[in-house]
This record gives sequence, structure tokens and C-alpha cells, in this order.
Amino acid sequence: ALSWKSFMERDLAGKALYTDEATVEKLSKDFYWYSPVLDRKLKDKRGDAVVVPRDEAEVADVLAFAYRHRVPVTVRGAGTGNYGQAVPLDGGIVLDVSEMDRILEIGDGYARVQCGVKLGVLDKKARELGQELRIYPSTYAKATVGGFVCGGSGGIGSVTWGNLWDGNVISAVVYSMEERPQRLVVSGDLLVDYIHNYGTTGIMTEVTLALAPRTEWMQVVVEFEDFEASVRFGEALARRTDISKRLVTPIEWPLPSFFKPIGKVLSPDKSVVFTEIADGLLTEVTALAAEFGGRPGHVIPAERYRKTIGLSDFTWNHTTLWALKSDPAYTYLQAGFDPDRYIEQLRTLKGKFGSELLMHFEWVLSGGQLLPNALPVVRFESEERLYRIIETCRSIGVEIYDPHTWSLDNGGRGAVPSMQARKRMNDPLGLLNPGKIG
Ligand code: FAD
Repeated sequence: ALSWKSFMERDLAGKALYTDEATVEKLSKDFYWYSPVLDRKLKDKRGDAVVVPRDEAEVADVLAFAYRHRVPVTVRGAGTGNYGQAVPLDGGIVLDVSEMDRILEIGDGYARVQCGVKLGVLDKKARELGQELRIYPSTYAKATVGGFVCGGSGGIGSVTWGNLWDGNVISAVVYSMEERPQRLVVSGDLLVDYIHNYGTTGIMTEVTLALAPRTEWMQVVVEFEDFEASVRFGEALARRTDISKRLVTPIEWPLPSFFKPIGKVLSPDKSVVFTEIADGLLTEVTALAAEFGGRPGHVIPAERYRKTIGLSDFTWNHTTLWALKSDPAYTYLQAGFDPDRYIEQLRTLKGKFGSELLMHFEWVLSGGQLLPNALPVVRFESEERLYRIIETCRSIGVEIYDPHTWSLDNGGRGAVPSMQARKRMNDPLGLLNPGKIG
């Protein structure tokens, strides 16, 4: 039988198609290699062809073609995900939507954009108009809006605004995978089936994100003798509703020693909290830090915002990036500590694992509750050892959102039962990013 690839030129005439090995290989990868477990399992996976649509109509054409020929479709934004979300497990078409990059409308409190718009580009535009993104990942310079909504969770801003599923996505246009792909306009509670879906329940072509009024942010490193004090200061700062902030990141020494580009301005042997606070509030933050034995170190004034490397370039999963640059044996975990006994949990884990587990927290307002989330950097020995650490965390009530799996059900956010039902409705043949859900 003739393969579907031989029909592509005819049926998708006029579209940007690539079948050369180099392009297909490159666009079949994301940042899964942060996990040595995923690296081993995914390094040989790739699609068979890449299509780069320019608009919604082309997306619908590709989906109809793929349905007709029973070909898997894996959609890709910038490919900065860490769980192999954008890696095709079963070949097929990689749908690279990065050229669908038009900002359609910025209104009061919202931005409506095509899925391939880069978050950094959108934020810059919004700030010119007196607004800004509420939340964005530390990869905002490269990452796309669609990739964040469908593959990410939260980031800078989440200490005030929560995660993607806390009302920060207003609506989306989604295409189903059927003989005649439907154009669905989704908003409100129904969005839960599409946020963090890895492109398994539909292709999001347009997104409306909530915006906040623009704030002038200053960046302050607060230094502490010990890590526990830095995490407790983090909580106190996160709770201060009179201090506008969008980043509260306690980081245990020696992790800051890996931050080469700002190494000169960080004091040796100090645990730190990296913060972004509204301009003019340094006195308040200094007083609060003193209560926990800390004091401000390096400060980047608001005028220098985005003009130099920023503190957020060392937070969220960028902390792991700098650790990996210093020693490729590092990997990481994603953990949810108990807000009522995180210090006790922290002591237990440090007591058991010492420097095998270097701690870094992100305070996040999740579902209205302030939570000490953490992305511990782990020195990788073996998969068994890694899962023993995970088991120990779970046994003391520290939740682990496993970043060493591509499965939506076991990883990042955990299973959303209605998403599986939506999958069956919108993608009856199971062609959208197969192997990632259910
Ligand atoms: P991709 O990797 O291209 O795609 C992500 C997933 O979404 C894939 O499953 C893909 O199939 C799907 N997808 C993409 N576009 C669409 C679409 N239009 N419709 C349907 N499905 C789609 N994540 C965070 O949440 N917070 C962080 O702070 C953060 N920090 C990071 C730091 C580093 C150093 C790295 C390497 C990663 C980090 N990430 C973080 C993960 C990732 O960078 C972000 O989630 C990012 O927003 C993904 O965007 P992307 O365009 O690269 O998506």
C-alpha cells in the first residue's frame, strides 16, 4: 500500500511541508533530556514529517488529512517542555504552529492571540499598552502561548495569580480531530479539559489570556545564613498583601554558586530568596527580611527591568538548567510541601539525603491557598534511587508531580478524568499525540 506520505504533496499542496531528516529530527525534540529517565526512553523517537501551518484553515486541513489517513499528529510550539510532551511516540506529523504568531487584540484586562505568539513578545507589547502578563514560565523568551497553556503550569506571577487553571486563561479556540474538524470556542469551566492537555484533546489555535495592569518591578536578592529562614521569609513575604510581588524563590546554597552570569554579585555560602517586588517597596522588604535574619544583597532597579539578565532566569526550572550546566549529573523533582509543616518535612529530607537533594522553593497561590512548591535539584545516581527518593517524599506527605514521565495521568498535574472523556469525544481515533493520556 502507498504510504500516507506519498499523498501529502497532493493533499496538502501549498503548505509548508518538511520530510528531510534534519528538520524532522530537530522538531521532534523538546527538553525531555533534563530527565535522564526520559532521555533514555525518548532519544530515538521522532515524527515522519513536519507541517508548519500559517492559519487556522491550514490546521483544519492537516487534521482532516491526518484523520483520513489515520496519521498521528503531535503539535509543537517552541518545544521547551520538559516531559517529552512534544515528542511523537508513534511517528506521524509534527504540527509546528510557531508561525501562527499574530497578536489579534489587546483589550482592557485581556489579550487574544494566535497560539504561536511568544510569551515574551506578548508581554512586551502588553507593557507598552500599560498592562502585562499575569503569569508566565521562566522560558518566556522562547515559549509560545499555546505551548504554555497546553504544556505548562505556572511561573513568574503565580505567587499572586495562581496557575494556568486559576482563571488566567479566559477562552480558547480549539480544533477537534475528526473527519471534519470542528472549531470549538471554549471558555469557563470547560477549559479544564484543554489546559495542560499536551495537545491530546484538541489543537488550540487561539487563546485569550487575562492581563494585569503594568507594574514597575524591582528585583531583589535577599540573603540568609540558613535555608530554613529563607523559606520562612518567603512565606511571610508571600502573605504580605500590601507588597505587590510576582516572584518569591528561596534557593539553598550551593545552588546559587551555579549561577555563573551573576556569580560576582552573590555572597558565598548564603541561601537566598530571589524576588520581584513593586518599585518603591525595598524598605518594607528589608524590614521583613530582618525579622528572619536576612538582608538585601544585589538589587536590580526597575529601570533595568528586562535590560539585563533577570533574577527569574535563575528560578523555576531555570535553577535546574544552571545546575545541569555545572554538572550534567543533576536532574530534578517537582514537589508540593504541606503548608502547615513544610519546615519539618524539609528537615526530614535534608537529614536523609543531604546534598543529594538541593532545595529550591517557589511560593505559589494555588486555588486561593499559598503553597510551598519546590523544584529540588537531585544528583542522579540511578532510576531506582530516584524513585526511592520519590517514595520517601510521598511517605512523609510531600507530594511529587513526577517530571520523569510523559504520561499526563502520572506526571505534572495528575489525571483530570473529564479530560479523558473529552479525548474520546474530540479525537475518537486517538490520533492526537498518542501515548500521552489514558
Ligand atoms: P511546547 O514544548 O512546544 O509544547 C508543550 C506541550 O503543549 C506539548 O505537549 C505540545 O504538544 C502542546 N502544545 C503546544 N502548542 C499547542 C497548541 N497550540 N495546541 C495544543 N497543544 C499544544 N513551565 C512552566 O510552566 N513554568 C516554568 O517556569 C517553566 N520553566 C522552565 C524552565 C526551563 C529551563 C525549561 C527548559 C522549561 C521550563 N518550563 C516551565 C516548561 C516549558 O518551557 C513551558 O511550559 C513552556 O510554556 C512551553 O511552551 P512551548 O511553546 O515550548 O511548548
